[in-house]
Amino acid sequence: MSGFSDIYGYETIKEHLQNAVVMDKVSHAYIISGGLGSGKKMIASIFAKTLQCEEGKSNPCNHCHSCVQADTLNQPDIIWVKHEKPTSIGVDDIRDQLVADMQIKPYSSKYKIYIVDEAEKLTVQAQNALLKTIEEPPAYGIVILLTKNADIFLQTILSRCVVLDLKPISDDIVEKYISDHLECGEYEKKFASKFARGCIGRAISILESPDFSQLRSVVLDVVKNAKKMTSVEIMDSVKKTSEYKLVIDDYLDLLNVWYRDVLIFKSTKDSNLVIFKDEISTIKAQAEVISYEGIQDILESIDKVKIRLMANVNFDLTIELLIMAIKEHI
Ligand SMILES: [Zn+2]
Repeated sequence: MSGFSDIYGYETIKEHLQNAVVMDKVSHAYIISGGLGSGKKMIASIFAKTLQCEEGKSNPCNHCHSCVQADTLNQPDIIWVKHEKPTSIGVDDIRDQLVADMQIKPYSSKYKIYIVDEAEKLTVQAQNALLKTIEEPPAYGIVILLTKNADIFLQTILSRCVVLDLKPISDDIVEKYISDHLECGEYEKKFASKFARGCIGRAISILESPDFSQLRSVVLDVVKNAKKMTSVEIMDSVKKTSEYKLVIDDYLDLLNVWYRDVLIFKSTKDSNLVIFKDEISTIKAQAEVISYEGIQDILESIDKVKIRLMANVNFDLTIELLIMAIKEHI
């Protein structure tokens, strides 16, 4: 049971999609681009549901047969394309589930809608296979590609698609979402809405994951104490961090936000721009002693960790080197 009014932010995009439905000017191919937790899937499924709704209005009616099926993911003409390999969407996935399937008329609805999540994983061959379909689709065929990164698409694909870019929404809207849907204190709300950087999904995981506040203290321990840490203490911190392997991106983001705070405070002296507001005195003290180059080096080291971990370099060693890099600069 949901409609466009359940989507927070993205006013222009909602308006565009709703107008397309009402004015019958729907494109055959869309790219919805936005970061993790930005709401790509929610927007795609509400758009698809609205397109297939038997009442044909700018919002789904939520009670017709099609809407009910869509809500339980049983609408036969809304197809979520799956992929076998976790790391790529190959030409066979696209040929079997989309290109060939689109030749078969819709089962019961006006359109046949294909949603490809994680479309940044499409191989070049898969994109080429897709291209022919979006160049000459049947009148009922619609393809929606969801991606974290639209840059990977071939120019020929991009030029055929309506590209909707989900830019970060304002902190106020994230805060409003939290107030409307989640229970938490005022500081948690502020921190989550700031740290989420315009992404509601991220705010939810910050507030709902019990690990997050523990992780936050592991990170604070590093940024506050790295300078005087002995090698035994560093190993101990690495060991604690390895318990959070699955959310290592959060660990790195927390570190990143911390040093961005130091950088922002150093250059502006404006404590309102700082996200770790409750740690302002430490931020202030660090901003005074770390050079701009030092902060830059630390931020680069944090980025490098992401690349190393993606390349499966030893986890403990990578984190140890990161803490040493921080120690060296503060
Ligand atoms: Zn309906």
